[in-house]
Amino acid sequence: MRYSELASDRVATVAVIGAGASGTLAATYLLRAAAAARTPLRVALIDRYGQHGLGRAYATEHPAHLLNSPVDRMSAVAGDPGHLARWAAANGIRHDGFLSRAAFGCYLRELLADAERAAAPTATVARITADVVGLSHSGLRRPLRLHLAAQGRIDADAAVLATGNQPPAAPFPAPASPRYIRDPWIPGALDGVADGSPVVILGTGLTMLDVAISLTGAHPQTVVHAVSRHALVPREHLVPPEHPVPREHRLPPDPAAAPAGLQVPDLSRVDLPGLIRYVRLAAAQAPDGWQAAVDALRPHVPGLWQRLSLPDKRLFLRHVARYWEVHRHRMPPATARRIDQLRSAGRLSVQPGRIVAVAEKPPGLCVRIEHQGRATEVAAGWLINATGPAADITATTDPLLRGLLNSGLARPDPLRLGFEVDASGVLLNASGRPSDVIVALGPPLRGQLYETTAIPEIRDQAAALAGRLLAICRDRAAPLTAPSPPGLAGSAA
Ligand SMILES: Cc1cc2nc3c(=O)[nH]c(=O)nc-3n(C[C@H](O)[C@H](O)[C@H](O)COP(=O)(O)OP(=O)(O)OC[C@H]3O[C@@H](n4cnc5c(N)ncnc54)[C@H](O)[C@@H]3O)c2cc1C
Repeated sequence: MRYSELASDRVATVAVIGAGASGTLAATYLLRAAAAARTPLRVALIDRYGQHGLGRAYATEHPAHLLNSPVDRMSAVAGDPGHLARWAAANGIRHDGFLSRAAFGCYLRELLADAERAAAPTATVARITADVVGLSHSGLRRPLRLHLAAQGRIDADAAVLATGNQPPAAPFPAPASPRYIRDPWIPGALDGVADGSPVVILGTGLTMLDVAISLTGAHPQTVVHAVSRHALVPREHLVPPEHPVPREHRLPPDPAAAPAGLQVPDLSRVDLPGLIRYVRLAAAQAPDGWQAAVDALRPHVPGLWQRLSLPDKRLFLRHVARYWEVHRHRMPPATARRIDQLRSAGRLSVQPGRIVAVAEKPPGLCVRIEHQGRATEVAAGWLINATGPAADITATTDPLLRGLLNSGLARPDPLRLGFEVDASGVLLNASGRPSDVIVALGPPLRGQLYETTAIPEIRDQAAALAGRLLAICRDRAAPLTAPSPPGLAGSAA
């Protein structure tokens, strides 16, 4: 479909850049809101890999790549926690409380397709495969112009940045070798890696677990050595999966409502030592185990994070986050069993250390690992970077994000983890002024909210943004009816 078909004079266009879970849910909620308000709208849902509805997390087809949250915490429909479980039952998908990520990808695609059907013909969505390399104010008929890598452009009335996490950064001089996989979630990145030669994975989090399971399953000789500074591996979910946190274990928003014996800090003045003390106490006192305390805290994380001082946030990121993450993002029991088997069979080792150098040593790589002053060298067929999202948006080489920062359309949050937005998700420009027409959701807001990368948060942000975007489009409705100069319709193959 040529994009010019979308460039109707009379109908507002919202460009959603990135079609992973964030972009897909933003489009879904936008279609629903437009249909409910009978507002004509076109949504251009753009993804560079054509992974509409899937993105990095849900494009995997491996049946052992499971959601790391139980089914009752992954509903993409706000206010209906049972929605995903009912969808799975209706589709005959059997599970032990943890669905495969591939199934979840189908679910997201279906949600979008359902919203599309229900909204037609008032509101429509076009799924476009293109790499957006620039976003500028056009000053023309529509205020924004998206520049595409291949050729062409898309003019829009509003844009949603749903670009996901930054790819990992290499904490060592990265070799130019194709045997160094800089990001395992790029489509096709792991093709050919399971050739029976040893694999070193930098990082010991959930991505490492998935990659180790895939590679060892694909070749009987493949052995994986996982390395990280502290060798911390995600904890395991309880069996059976924990059910929604009982009301009495929820973190009370009002300290006066704390259960007897549980000292809740004054949430208006949070500091890191107090917060750590509180979490430790709550974890120790939670009758159903520390998991309930961690899960109870989760919805409060954005509010707490925003009230921490900048030095405390930095301290948290440097010294505490790795411990929080392995307790907060837990692995499903089936994954834990598989990982135990691999470790017992000697096919997966997890060791503390830092990779300090990597050299090509045909046919593979020589990886130098240091730990407590001792260095070891590992001959590896492959080295995979599974360290998680890069931590400095200002170092990005992504042309779109770079351009947004260079042009002053966006500014980094004070921690430089992502972009700064106002309370409704509207992007702030270099001088702190909210954009009229650009919003963001999901991982790019990590510096501001910390807890913003998982489905419950993305879902709620997408639902809230829909109304904001619709208002922008309505505001733009009058100018849209004016006759347009020729030759301004966007075009993208
Ligand atoms: C492996 C993995 C497992 C996870 N498991 C869970 C889980 O079990 N439960 C849970 O709640 N959360 C989970 N998460 C977290 C969360 O659900 C994901 O991070 C979430 O899917 C983020 O979606 P996203 O759309 O923001 O980002 P992404 O999935 O990264 O999607 C962004 C998309 O934007 C595209 N894009 C980026 N820039 C451009 C551009 N300039 N032009 C065009 N396209 C562009 C990319 O190609 C990509 O497809 C997991 C995350 C990962 C990585």
